[in-house]
Amino acid sequence: MVDLPLKHHWMQLPREVIVGNGTIERVPEISLRLGFTKSALIVAGSKTWDIAGKTVKALLEEEGLEVNTFLVESATVKDVEAVEEKIKVLKPHVVFGVGGGTKIDVAKLSSAHQEIPFISVPTTASHDGIASPLSSVKGFEKPYSVLAQAPIAIIADTNIIMQAPWRFTISGCGDVIAKFTAVKDWKLARDEINEYYGGYAASLALMSSKLVMQNAELIKQESEEGLRILLEALISCGVSMSIAGTSRPCSGSEHLFSHALDMIKPTHAMHGEQCGVGTIMMTHLHRANWRRVRDTLRKLGAPTNAFDLGIEKEDVIKALEMAATMRPERYTILNKLRLNNETCERLAKMTEVI
Ligand SMILES: [Zn+2]
Repeated sequence: MVDLPLKHHWMQLPREVIVGNGTIERVPEISLRLGFTKSALIVAGSKTWDIAGKTVKALLEEEGLEVNTFLVESATVKDVEAVEEKIKVLKPHVVFGVGGGTKIDVAKLSSAHQEIPFISVPTTASHDGIASPLSSVKGFEKPYSVLAQAPIAIIADTNIIMQAPWRFTISGCGDVIAKFTAVKDWKLARDEINEYYGGYAASLALMSSKLVMQNAELIKQESEEGLRILLEALISCGVSMSIAGTSRPCSGSEHLFSHALDMIKPTHAMHGEQCGVGTIMMTHLHRANWRRVRDTLRKLGAPTNAFDLGIEKEDVIKALEMAATMRPERYTILNKLRLNNETCERLAKMTEVI
């Protein structure tokens, strides 16, 4: 009998995670502890520069680091390339991504390409990209995120994040609640097409979803305690993706619906808001309690239907029809059920999304 070696499973995890009021003050301490003593590059947007970027710069400079800044306003392949050029010239010890989604995505992917460690300093809690090893960048042929690298540290200052509109935080809740159907889709892929399924990664993502749902009342009150629960959930989701080595535990059919919606037309709705509405419908397809998902989102003040998202009924039906084609290799309940125009419409109506 030949001994077949098991495939190597590589997990890249954050080493320092610090969440709480005023944690930005600890940027230099963490930076020095990780051995980044000489130089740093801060990637931020003009707004997030004012909110947190300049503070990070000043704090690091006090410790004698040479700090450069690169401001980006979007997250395109071009932005990533521009930051990479900057990294090649400056050769910083570490790259900081200071911002909500886009700035962190650009910093994460460019630093990964240049093999420089990356520290995440989120200014909002709107999605799980603040802690995940994946980046969502426009300009690739794929509308979803690509593997980059896990942040070596995550420094989430609740005092800063509390200053962002609460809608961002509620959107983050939608992105976490979405793990309920993402994990169901992953299990389905294991059962139907024998896909690799990681029990630890799946449990972690599912637990985050449950905790946010259980604490909806607290989060709704716009309290720091509620925000901390969400941040820890988002970070756990990021870690679950690091453990799995893919976005599988955190992104299923509900995310495909959101990606399809992004392709159909640019909406003013946020990623987590779209995923939340997707979760209501996909929960129904999985024959689970969609009303509980809907009621929790409603309690949080998150969108639960087309009107709330600011889109037409037709857009919902079209996105549902398109969703299964968004990412053919990702098997979900949509592959199993193969909805047509009529069944898509029925699903959206049944779940009161249209
Ligand atoms: Zn997401």
